[in-house]
Amino acid sequence: MARYTDASCRLCRREGEKLFLKGSRCYSDKCAVSRRAYAPGQHGQAKKKQSEYSLQLREKQKAKRYYGVLEGQFHKYFEMASKQKGVTGEELLSLLERRLDNVVYRMGLGSSRAEARQLVTHGHFTINGKRVDIPSYLVSAGEVVALCEKTRSNSGAKIESILDATNGRIVPEWISFDSEKMSAEIVKLPCRADVDFPIEEHLIVELYSK
Ligand code: SF4
Repeated sequence: MARYTDASCRLCRREGEKLFLKGSRCYSDKCAVSRRAYAPGQHGQAKKKQSEYSLQLREKQKAKRYYGVLEGQFHKYFEMASKQKGVTGEELLSLLERRLDNVVYRMGLGSSRAEARQLVTHGHFTINGKRVDIPSYLVSAGEVVALCEKTRSNSGAKIESILDATNGRIVPEWISFDSEKMSAEIVKLPCRADVDFPIEEHLIVELYSK
């Protein structure tokens, strides 16, 4: 499966804001966006006039990178969103939020989405009691995402260290997290108000609608 393997911090610098791709480092003085607030590369500091197209493109790239989704899959989410009854941009964000790797991240069981994704692919989570190792699985209301019993007993120290790193992160209202059971019920599907990331989704819709 294709995935981005270059330096994550370059992506944040390219977008000019923190995308929180590296866990605790993102909250420290070492964050590359804090230290070098300009785009990477030889012409990174050059002043450029942004066209309408480049604004739309950057917003799409930002969303893709934030959720760790590649172009093909992102475009599929857009097509799915455009077939739904609601506002396309909002439906798109809801679909991205519903990804299993994002849910695990939101539960605080991944210091970054990449770490959450790895835990999912290694089979550490169940949904309604059945093991699911597909990060792109879309959760539905009423489902229960839980850490496997075996992982809890065998990798307790690792899970504790992740929870320490994510301590203080707010679990969104659409997820009811039980820290004793290490499980979370999807109370409702996420809506636009549940997305705390500054994103202008209408720009993405405009880009794909050309
Ligand atoms: Fe982005 Fe985190 Fe790197 Fe900062 S430390 S540039 S937020 S990935």
